[in-house]
Order: sequence, then structure tokens, then C-alpha cells
Amino acid sequence: MNSPVRSFRAVGGEPFFARRAAGATLWDADGRPYIDYVCSWGALPLGHAHPRVEAALREAVGEGTSFGVPNPREVGLGERIRSAFPSIEKLRMTSSGTEACMTAIRLARGFTGREKILKFAGCYHGHSDSLLVKAGSGALTHGEPDSAGVPRAVAELTLVLPWNDPFAARELFAREGERIAAVILEPVPANAGLLPPRPGFLEEVRELCTEHEALLIFDEVITGFRLGMGGAQERFGIRPDLTILGKIVGGGLPAAALGGRAEILDRLAPDGDVYHAGTLSGNPLAMAAGLAQIEEMERTDAHKRLEQLGAFLESEIRMLLSRRGEKKVQVQRVSSLFCLFFTDRPVISLQEALESDRKRFARFFHSLLQQGIFFPPSPFETCFLSTAHSEQDLEKTVAAIARALEESQ
Ligand code: PMP
Repeated sequence: MNSPVRSFRAVGGEPFFARRAAGATLWDADGRPYIDYVCSWGALPLGHAHPRVEAALREAVGEGTSFGVPNPREVGLGERIRSAFPSIEKLRMTSSGTEACMTAIRLARGFTGREKILKFAGCYHGHSDSLLVKAGSGALTHGEPDSAGVPRAVAELTLVLPWNDPFAARELFAREGERIAAVILEPVPANAGLLPPRPGFLEEVRELCTEHEALLIFDEVITGFRLGMGGAQERFGIRPDLTILGKIVGGGLPAAALGGRAEILDRLAPDGDVYHAGTLSGNPLAMAAGLAQIEEMERTDAHKRLEQLGAFLESEIRMLLSRRGEKKVQVQRVSSLFCLFFTDRPVISLQEALESDRKRFARFFHSLLQQGIFFPPSPFETCFLSTAHSEQDLEKTVAAIARALEESQ
């Protein structure tokens, strides 16, 4: 197992191995098909093995797999990103979201000369030491939002607040504002289930950062190019100082990026004094796949379709819940991201997510899997739709959800 959530530890039972995938379907090693709501954890909004992405990769692979010097494909994808995200004046490619977040933190510290950073409980920003504090995703599903091996001296520099609580944020800034280099957040947290921001919360955080001269870092590894071409920042009309992108920008290959205000990015080596490097940064295959996927999303107006599919699925699930008189299920959705929580109250932060019925989730998950529907194997992850999901797939899924609700009671 090369990444913990894949182990099924949070839901029990044996994980399966994938043999191949196409569109919205994943086949296991025995050839059994599943309608896939993981879609490589959000990297594939057009579904698996999209023909355009595949063609771009075939073309690129014949020209060499890695050069160790700059190549035009890096520039092509970089320019495409910059035109979609007005807040990104300059950017640096990396090989993973973890690496991009880690570098953004170092850059924020170097730029501001401050040491503390602020994150929100349940948000996941990869597994660098500073950010493995009250982290979401696999760290959370193993019941350990904090990791062994992170020196206390490092963890102490990471301040943590509950999500969606503007009063707590204001209070903390009043005390610590001058020492905070940056606030890092997922604008729509999707690593502790899905926790949409309450109206005004992101605006409040933006204001606090501006007032106290701390940098605001939007981790758009999941939301970038998914909630719209310009990500969550376009959707909510907020301009962060730095942005992290990942998943979609690599088209299913390892790539991520950090970008933002030019005067901040100028501090990166070689021009600046903050170090970052990577043998495979800007890898030509990942650049080709990412650019092809993004161009195809734009050409086909994929975001409109993703929103339609999300709205359709949500309304079908809500109808089902009301027909069954299910009072203890919450449906949370933003565009093509959605999750179900087994609890009777809306989930606005990690606290409520942790209070949901995880045992019922595990039974629910296994019933779905049995019926050929693959949801993320944890109550603290988010489902991903792709344009390859058909209305028929969604109807089949809703029928399976009906049975899974019955069987999981
Ligand atoms: N940030 C967010 C919001 C993520 O969802 C993830 C991964 N799921 C990461 C950062 C880390 O990215 P990677 O797994 O590529 O290191």
C-alpha cells in the first residue's frame, strides 16, 4: 500500500486492486466493474483514460520522458494556468501537492520574516512536518490528525483554528497577528468530508491577513480548475497571495504548482533566497497530460456539465432521503464535489464530522461496493464526479444508495 486511505482501514475489509479504468468505470483485478467516485482523488474531472489526454501523452512520450532542462511544455501549461488565475503572476511547478504546500510555507516565512503559520482543523495540505498538525485525509481516518516524527518545536509554530469560525480567527489574530507568516486553507475543505465555507468566512480571513500583513495561501489542489477555470478564488471573488494547484494540472500524472504575487515568487531560488528544486519538476509528460485535460475541459464547457451532474445527483439523493424519512443523513455538495455524513445536524467543521456515525458509514460503503459503486473508503473524504459519469450511472448510484441506506441501518 503506497498511500494510507487506499488500505480501507477506515471502513474495514480488504481493499481491491485496480487493473484498468476508462471513463467513469474502474475494473478490479478480477475484471469486476465499479462506477468510480474517487477518480484518482479528483485528478480526473473528464474521467479515466480520456482519449485527448492519452493522445497528448503518446505524442509527448515519443519525444523523451524527462530532460533536466526547461522545455516548452512547462511554459505552455504555466501560461494556461496564469491566464485562468489572475492572482498567479508567476509560478513554479512541482511533482506533488505536498511539495508545493511545503514550499509555499517556506516562501511565506522567507518573504515575511515571520515563523508562525495558521491552518484549520481537518484541512489537509500534504504531509510536510509543519502541515501534519490536525490534518485531514488519511491522517484523520487513522484517528491521528497529528503525526509521530514531527518535532514539537516545528508543530508549535503551526497554529490551528476550527473551520468556519470567524470569531476565533479574529481573536487569534489580535494576539498573534504580528507573528503569523501565512494562513493556509482549502477554500472548500474536502479532506474531512466536504465542509463548504459559510458566507463571509473567506472574506473575513482575507481581511485579517491584509490587516496583519500575513500572506493568504489558497490550497486549490482539489478546487483548482474544478469549481471553474479560475477555481474557488474565482467562484468566491477572493484574491489570495499564493495559490497551490495539483491533481487536475497533472492530468493524472505527478504534477502540482505554486504561484502568486510576482514579488513573492521572485524570492525563490535562483533569483531569490528561498530554496526549492526538483529533478522531475515540470516533467514533460505531466505537462502534456495536464494541458490537454485543461484545454479539453475548456473546449467542452466541462464545468457546466459537472455542475449539472452534481445538482441532479444531489436532488435525487435528497428526494430519496425524504421518501425514506431519513433524518440522520446530511448531503453536502459544491459543484462536482459531494459527501454524505451520517448525522442529524449540518456539518460545518471537523468537530461535527467527527461526531457523525462512522460505523454506519462503513456498512453503507461496503453495501455500495458490493453493488458496484466505489465511494471513497472513508467517512472523511469527498466524492468526485467527472463528465464521464452519465445520468444513467447516477440513477444506478441512487438506487444503490437506497439499498445501502436500508442495509446499513
Ligand atoms: N492539498 C490538498 C487540498 C489535497 O487534497 C492534497 C491531496 N489529496 C494535497 C494537498 C497533497 O497533494 P499530494 O497528495 O499530491 O502530495
